[in-house]
Amino acid sequence: MAIELKQESGTDFSHLLRSHPCLSAEAHVKFGRMHLPVSYACNIQCDFCIRKLKTEETRPGVAYKVMTPDESIDTVKKALELCPEIQVIGIAGPGDTLASPHAIETFTRIHAEFPDKILCLSTNGLMLPKNVDRLWDAGVRTISVTVNAVDPEILRQIVSKVVWEGEVLRGLPAAERLIHSQLTGIRAAARKGFLVKSNAVLIPGVNDTHIAAIAETLAEAGASMFNIIPLIPQGKFKDIATPSCAALGSARKEAEAYLPVFRHCKQCRADACGIPGKHVELSALLYGYATENTFSHG
Ligand code: SF4
Ligand code: SF4
Repeated sequence: MAIELKQESGTDFSHLLRSHPCLSAEAHVKFGRMHLPVSYACNIQCDFCIRKLKTEETRPGVAYKVMTPDESIDTVKKALELCPEIQVIGIAGPGDTLASPHAIETFTRIHAEFPDKILCLSTNGLMLPKNVDRLWDAGVRTISVTVNAVDPEILRQIVSKVVWEGEVLRGLPAAERLIHSQLTGIRAAARKGFLVKSNAVLIPGVNDTHIAAIAETLAEAGASMFNIIPLIPQGKFKDIATPSCAALGSARKEAEAYLPVFRHCKQCRADACGIPGKHVELSALLYGYATENTFSHG
């Protein structure tokens, strides 16, 4: 069944819904996406995050290598040969896409060369308010903002550091700064006409009773869709078990009172390539690294 989007800007999102594999279950098994790993730096520290290069792990924050904006055009050409179904060219790290200029520079070049492709950015949102217009001009039309709490007392348990205007913030001021930027950025992006999806990492005992409040706040700010993904236990949260299917299901159900929920996320690598719903990961072929698990025809 197609997801019905919450929408405020009046922009026609039907093309995005038909063709973006992470906006509808139908497109998820039909169309491909690729992530260009051009953004290594990050401006905050989420305590569940470990960024890694040259690894076969399949999760956000990892990539075989960081590429330059210059390399991106040839990489997209090669990816389209491997997977002509790719409709979406995204940038999702391995760090934050707005902590350095590389993502916007890359999108500008990609948009000029491949004007028909949907360009998609994932960010923690800290620098989103300042970049909404530049992202639009670079051809980006879908933005994912990861919002793990809208209560600073909860977010301070998840994010230990925020770098803001050259200053390192910790504790409550860090959490307040990040939440303010995220909500301001989502409001501005939704008004501009972007399709804004939000992600949240479900962390048992930390934000699992807070998901409905996050969804309600995101809906008020103008987000169109919510994607709740389970914690991958690592870093400071290595001893917290990943949430059960039942816990994930009930968080998604609570959130659905406020926003449509995307349920098919594969928690992809920062250099993912292929059709996510077909479990065919082509990044090893694209970048030439060896893996025993390149193909999974499950
Ligand atoms: S914003 Fe992303 S890259 Fe930065 S610490 Fe958090 S999860 Fe890691
Ligand atoms: S991480 Fe989830 S939302 Fe992003 S490309 Fe993969 S399946 Fe889609």
